Amino acid sequence: MKHFSCLEEIVGVGGVYCDEAHLSVYGFDSTRLEKRPSYVVFPQNENQIAQILSYANAHLIPVTPRGAGSGMSGGCINEGIILAMQKYFSSIIHIDLENLCVTLQPGVINGYLNKILEPHHLFFPPDPASSAFSSVGGNIAENAGGMNAVRYGVSKNHILSMRVVLGSGEILQLGHKTYKDVAGYDLVGLMCGSEGTLGVITEMTLKLAPKPKHITSVLICFDGIKALAEASCAILASGLSPYAMEFLDSLMVAALNHKYQIYPEQAKAVLIIKLMANHLDSLERDVLELREIAARFSPLLFMRAQNQDEEERIWFGRKNASQASNFYGVKKLNEDITVPRGSVAKFLHRVEKISQKYGLTIACFGHIGDGNIHTNVMLKNESELDVGKQAVRELFAQAIEMGGTLSGEHGIGLSKSSFMPMAFGDLEMRIFREIKKVFDPNGILNPHKMGL
Ligand SMILES: Cc1cc2nc3c(=O)[nH]c(=O)nc-3n(C[C@H](O)[C@H](O)[C@H](O)COP(=O)(O)OP(=O)(O)OC[C@H]3O[C@@H](n4cnc5c(N)ncnc54)[C@H](O)[C@@H]3O)c2cc1C
Repeated sequence: MKHFSCLEEIVGVGGVYCDEAHLSVYGFDSTRLEKRPSYVVFPQNENQIAQILSYANAHLIPVTPRGAGSGMSGGCINEGIILAMQKYFSSIIHIDLENLCVTLQPGVINGYLNKILEPHHLFFPPDPASSAFSSVGGNIAENAGGMNAVRYGVSKNHILSMRVVLGSGEILQLGHKTYKDVAGYDLVGLMCGSEGTLGVITEMTLKLAPKPKHITSVLICFDGIKALAEASCAILASGLSPYAMEFLDSLMVAALNHKYQIYPEQAKAVLIIKLMANHLDSLERDVLELREIAARFSPLLFMRAQNQDEEERIWFGRKNASQASNFYGVKKLNEDITVPRGSVAKFLHRVEKISQKYGLTIACFGHIGDGNIHTNVMLKNESELDVGKQAVRELFAQAIEMGGTLSGEHGIGLSKSSFMPMAFGDLEMRIFREIKKVFDPNGILNPHKMGL
């Protein structure tokens, strides 16, 4: 109780909780992992965060920042103190129309920010499928991506500067409002994707992009993943620069057809592309070029949306892919493995082999334009969990062997922590630990994450 009173002294009465309801709710994120904290604290300003960290640092209490808790890798759950940022850190401070950037607090919801930006014809490009409820601070801390990463990149490509409180309680201003900045080490870049292990972000200035004026979507069905993957590489090499480029493998096509009958019966792989342009005539020319490129790979169907209804129909399957995969099991082990773009077909072939080896269905879909594949190892019952985990380990091993990586957007957190030594050598892991020590000498910030 001593810590409770001291924390309450910093944030005031009603700012600290240790009752069953709070500890339970804040013990979960969107994984099914649980880590029970001792205190949930709602700081109201940066100064209070600095005091909390200074106190926790002196008493060696773990502190973990939390946005909306939508993380898919157990990033925001931990023992000790959970710093709940959404309640009081949710202001948009300034929209700078001249410099095309916005300064805001980390608890602002991604989708809300984009709603506010709409009248200015601007948007914040990172668009995780969780944009309706995930916080921008969580997006930056996870280096989140989404469907339009193929054109705009991931969160780290959209941050100019930030304010951050270190493990010691010291406050740092990092970066500038300039689009170019090559002076010194890139500490903003380092902080982005650091999953709350290096500091607590209290304010950020983010780059904005003008909203595309015209958009259209195209559905292309193939008789196999090889043709789809080759067509994707050719499309990207043509310079068309799609706004989104997504795929469904044969298992996903079958699961969606079973429920909704949306694709031709012979279709074994589905490619969905969104194109954008500022002028209608250039959009039309791009669609024509896309059709010509796709034709080289003998598609079974090339359908361009003619109206909003068709636009929605084209995206329906991809948007419902995650829930449709439940056709194959009651539980899934889903990962966001990423391989070089040119290796997608080869990787999916290996996935098939792993599926046969372990006798498990592995359905895949995702962001083919980034080589970012959502692998879903489907389990029919709990007794398949151990074998499922072995299959996941082998998927990671295959991806790494092909020059790929453990995560394209969901981060490492707790769930992928044990795989870090597969992907990084001793020296790299040591450098990671040394970096953490500089920002967080006593290791109180989100400990035991990212394999550290
Ligand atoms: C249905 C669904 C769909 C999703 N789709 C996508 C997708 O398409 N692409 C994608 O990339 N992700 C996706 N995600 C994952 C998740 O939404 C993202 O990782 C998101 O960025 C997390 O934001 P959050 O506010 O929920 O963060 P939280 O889960 O609360 O926290 C995530 C991490 O950020 C850290 N953190 C939070 N706030 C701060 C801060 N102020 N300072 C420092 N560190 C902080 C936490 O400590 C933690 O490590 C999806 C999740 C769900 C449930």
